[in-house]
Amino acid sequence: MTEKLNVKRVEKITAVKGMNDILPGESGLWEWFEETVRAQMHRYAYSNIRTPIVEPTGLFVRSLGEVTDIVEKEMYSFEDRLNGEALTLRPECTASVVRAAVEHSMLHDGGKRLYYMGPMFRHERPQRGRYRQFHQIGAEVLGFGGAEVDAELILLADSLWRELGLTGVRLELNSLGQPDERRAHRTALIAYLEQHRDLLDEDSLRRLHSNPLRILDSKNPAMRKMLEAAPRMLDFLGGPSLAHFESLQAILDNNGIAYTVNSRLVRGMDYYNLTVFEFVTDQLGSQGTICGGGRYDYLIEQVGGKPAPAVGWALGVERVLELVRAAQSSPARQVPDFYAVVPDPTALPVAFKAAQALRQSGRSVQMHAGGADGWGSVKSQFRKADASGARFALIFGSDELSREEATVKFLRDGAGEQCTVPLAGLVEWAQTLQSKA
Ligand code: ATP
Ligand code: MG
Repeated sequence: MTEKLNVKRVEKITAVKGMNDILPGESGLWEWFEETVRAQMHRYAYSNIRTPIVEPTGLFVRSLGEVTDIVEKEMYSFEDRLNGEALTLRPECTASVVRAAVEHSMLHDGGKRLYYMGPMFRHERPQRGRYRQFHQIGAEVLGFGGAEVDAELILLADSLWRELGLTGVRLELNSLGQPDERRAHRTALIAYLEQHRDLLDEDSLRRLHSNPLRILDSKNPAMRKMLEAAPRMLDFLGGPSLAHFESLQAILDNNGIAYTVNSRLVRGMDYYNLTVFEFVTDQLGSQGTICGGGRYDYLIEQVGGKPAPAVGWALGVERVLELVRAAQSSPARQVPDFYAVVPDPTALPVAFKAAQALRQSGRSVQMHAGGADGWGSVKSQFRKADASGARFALIFGSDELSREEATVKFLRDGAGEQCTVPLAGLVEWAQTLQSKA
């Protein structure tokens, strides 16, 4: 540029706190991860579902429960400016999947195995592993009540950790029983906590009558000992609930899945019954839960559908990827097959055609493009070719072009070697190359 524009420096606009950009250096890992998950989901015959990011606020209030952390203080809710409708950026996706299943009568011809991926929004204090926009991948199975489906979901998650090369992921299991069993446990729990009122912190006092189960989940060390002796949900399970829990454990045992039963494991949403579980790790500091889920046999009717059982889980992508990064030394970087070096821009029409033909045959080509300082010398183009990570430089020099050829220079294996290839035979030549490992 010869003339500098005389613009006044304006203040930068930055992303909303707790919401992150995923830049090109990072996004390759995300894409690879999503593809790995997708392949795994298909192996278990799960189909993809995509629901809107914005839902009526009432959906979450009704399904998650009014006195849950999410509904009480974490939702991004706003009014539609035209009709005043109360809307919310989804804080999780199970409620949305259930809404969609009911709205479209998806269960009319039998149960469904579904998965989703996408951003979720919770107004939490941003810290490592905890963001305001974060991503979840979830699996939901609607319409099946048997413990074998709970087991299948756990096997699916476990196979994912294996596929990703993660180690040190533990599985914790619990059963919350059925609503009447929960009520009996709740009464006993409140009575016990009342006896130890002096030990309860402010948060727990607030929840004592609204959501006492959640107190069991408290991380306050001063309460730990008292909570350890609290009435256990498992002691309130009736025959059928126990049988369900035992048959889940039998399938896990048969398939070599290790787990511990944690009678104090509860989940943040009200909709769970029977099985609940979490996959946890010690490698992420205090945000150690990478995946959580359970059964929600009453949610479909609560959202207005015909009663049907259901079970599912959701994993936190950011947390899982942090483990992946720690487990793999250098995640694969996405690199093009070819970098097109065009010494003189007059050769661009020919270069474009060749690049298009290669791309249509499945090869990736990064075209040289001019920068703010002009088109760039051959030397600087080669520097860019090298930095791109491309396997080959494809050179459209005037000498070669006069012979209707291009030069291919090896940049990686056999670096320094080069050959000329007729333009007309370029695609064919590229097809003889071994695909990258
Ligand atoms: P936590 O106890 O860590 O707050 P949660 O019980 O609220 O988790 P779920 O609603 O069960 O989490 O969501 C499933 C998974 O999504 C979690 O196990 C976690 O990996 C991830 N997750 C939840 N909230 C966040 C967040 N704010 N930022 C990043 N990941 C999150
Ligand atoms: Mg939470």
